[in-house]
Amino acid sequence: MSKVKQAYDVLIVGGGMVGLTLANALRDSGLSIGVIEQLAPPVVSDEIDVRVSAINRASVQVFQSVGVWHAMLQQRVCAYQQMHVWDATGAGSIHFDSAELGLDSLGTIVENTIIQQALLQGIKNVAELDWLCPHRIESVECFEAGHRVTLENGESLSCKLLVGADGAKSLVREAAGIEFKRSSYDQQGIVCTVATEQPHAETAWQCFLPTGPLAFLPLADGRCSIVWSMDANRVEEILALEDEPFCRRLEQAFGYQLGAVTSTSARAAFPLGHGHVDQYVQQGLALIGDAAHNIHPLAGQGANLGFLDAACLAEVILQARQANRQWWALHSLRKYERARKGGNRLMETSMTGFKVLFGNENPWLSLLRNAGLGLADQVPLLKSRLMKQAMGLDEVL
Ligand SMILES: Cc1cc2nc3c(=O)[nH]c(=O)nc-3n(C[C@H](O)[C@H](O)[C@H](O)COP(=O)(O)OP(=O)(O)OC[C@H]3O[C@@H](n4cnc5c(N)ncnc54)[C@H](O)[C@@H]3O)c2cc1C
Repeated sequence: MSKVKQAYDVLIVGGGMVGLTLANALRDSGLSIGVIEQLAPPVVSDEIDVRVSAINRASVQVFQSVGVWHAMLQQRVCAYQQMHVWDATGAGSIHFDSAELGLDSLGTIVENTIIQQALLQGIKNVAELDWLCPHRIESVECFEAGHRVTLENGESLSCKLLVGADGAKSLVREAAGIEFKRSSYDQQGIVCTVATEQPHAETAWQCFLPTGPLAFLPLADGRCSIVWSMDANRVEEILALEDEPFCRRLEQAFGYQLGAVTSTSARAAFPLGHGHVDQYVQQGLALIGDAAHNIHPLAGQGANLGFLDAACLAEVILQARQANRQWWALHSLRKYERARKGGNRLMETSMTGFKVLFGNENPWLSLLRNAGLGLADQVPLLKSRLMKQAMGLDEVL
């Protein structure tokens, strides 16, 4: 650590995509801010990151407001105009087109490293902001004037407001004694970059298989980034396949929707679970992003919800400060919790419901979901409501 203060106004634990969004949103506030991140910053390389995010329009607004969207657009991003969702066990499908809402796109696929790099660039050279990396917090202590964290090198830092942006296994959350009801799906998501025989047509493709959802997301170079969810006990076998048989298995699972899969990058797998805290805030403490909620990636919403958490928390802090209120006090922070918890919980519950409904081979359920998809496709009001929700356009910041 080159420059370290002993006391900060705000300490953000976790310099992932969500923690960095908050740091950018508070960048010009005059508050002294420290961001503590255990891992060295990601580097954008020639090879496309296997981790990408479908960024919805609400998140684009957040990135625009903190001035980092332009930097992302300069890199490899792919706006998609259409989304096609279908059930592999029947004829039910639904097709979304941004033109139906008079919009130029439904969202944009951006590599996670590109998002992180643009956000890091946004906080570079900010006098009141210290990027404390690579450092890991090992313990948290609450005292009268705020919180104190101890780093792995024994150094202690204190703050008025401690923000846990440290992901699904949040130490801040645990130290604060906030219960996180996490359930595992006993599934993992395999991710990689693949080339296909037919063009992706700037469309996000999602197929519900009885074994779990499979998504093909369009990339700027014409390839697709895939997320293939399956039971944890099958993952090892699929990961161990040579490229050729892997491509054959993948194109078959995808119903040859884009023809043959002609090549694949190296693959990685991530455990899938869901959970939510009841309490987002305490006196001098707030949780944002995956530290507060963890949802299935099938609708690509986890990070999007986190970006909105960050924007909302920053706004609540700045408004309370402007009104000369104790912005770190529980009564001020509650406004953030009230604004975000209901919508986030609804999204988490809906994704779990989807996962159960589509991951079931019961023929009656299959009939029901195929009829439901067909109906949703035919009822314009319902369809536009679904589209707006996916784009985050019904979110109130
Ligand atoms: C396969 C897959 C696909 C997905 N696709 C999408 C998508 O398309 N769209 C979307 O919106 N979401 C998607 N998600 C969800 C999304 O990736 C997460 O919601 C998002 O990454 C959460 O960001 P975060 O910053 O809250 O947490 P994290 O990304 O987990 O970041 C937490 C950070 O805190 C740091 N940290 C942790 N503990 C400490 C400590 N003690 N000290 C210091 N630092 C610490 C970590 O190193 C890390 O950098 C997907 C998830 C998966 C698994």
